Amino acid sequence: AKTEQKGAYRFFSARLGNELADRLTLEQSIRVGISRHEFFLNYQPKVDLQTEKIVGFEALMRWRHPSKGIVLPGEFIPVAETTGLILPLGRQAIEMACSQMQRWHQAGLGWIPVAVNVSARQFNSDHLVKDILAALAKYGVPSSVLEVELTESLVMDDPVIAETILLELRAIGIKISIDDFGAGHSSLASLMHYSVDCLKIDRAFIQNSSTEIIRAVISLAKSFDLQVVAEGVETSTQRDMLKGLSCEIAQGYFYSMPVTAEEVPDLLLKFSG
Ligand code: C2E
Ligand code: CA
Ligand code: CA
Ligand code: CA
Repeated sequence: AKTEQKGAYRFFSARLGNELADRLTLEQSIRVGISRHEFFLNYQPKVDLQTEKIVGFEALMRWRHPSKGIVLPGEFIPVAETTGLILPLGRQAIEMACSQMQRWHQAGLGWIPVAVNVSARQFNSDHLVKDILAALAKYGVPSSVLEVELTESLVMDDPVIAETILLELRAIGIKISIDDFGAGHSSLASLMHYSVDCLKIDRAFIQNSSTEIIRAVISLAKSFDLQVVAEGVETSTQRDMLKGLSCEIAQGYFYSMPVTAEEVPDLLLKFSG
């Protein structure tokens, strides 16, 4: 009977396919990882192009996996999104960001603005605003230093609900950025109807578009009073081009990779001189 069972399992496993089997394992280990607090945040600076000073950080999630080492979000965020695990994971991200902001503040660094990425599933849950308010209160963080980054597709999927939540977040005083602009298909003009503060232009858009196109996007965004952040700036040539187009803020390896929370004070010092 034992061999029969083994054979049956092999058959099942082959039919299931390695991919699905792997996904189930991954889902399970994400679940365990959440309960064991294996996820943490790295921070990448946003730099003012005129002054070359750091104006805030984007929080980017990492996974300290017990056997694989540090795992990047590309490997777990998609599965977390399809399984709904992004809800507890996203809550941890907000919580960790606020707790870190409190620690930096206690260390005498002032209130350093931090932007947290929010997925569609989180955005459309009833908990987002509640979770944010709870984390801000728990760590005594002023709402004005917390930002959320939402992708344009998320906002466009259900415009009416999106606008309701955006207005709620704004009423609290949270700053809202549209992430990855230029990676989707919506026009800037249609996004302008929403209550957002900032537009982050996608790295691929920066790298693949002509200077004239980038100039047009920046000037249109500005005419709507949106702050403009260029993502994925890797070279001084890109930096100079964007500065010349009056883009306000840049982020990318040219300035710094995402760093650990412990490295943030040194990074601030390096940019303050
Ligand atoms: P994103 O929000 O567009 O974040 C920017 C990504 O570009 C980050 O990748 C960052 O490390 C990388 N990057 C920054 N500067 C450069 C550059 O100059 N060149 C290049 N080639 N890449 C650069 P990362 O950390 O692997 O994150 C990937 C994506 O995972 C993020 O894209 C975001 O969509 C998602 N993500 C990360 N953390 C979270 C989170 O806490 N919650 C949610 N929902 N999503 C997250
Ligand atoms: Ca982002
Ligand atoms: Ca982005
Ligand atoms: Ca992205």
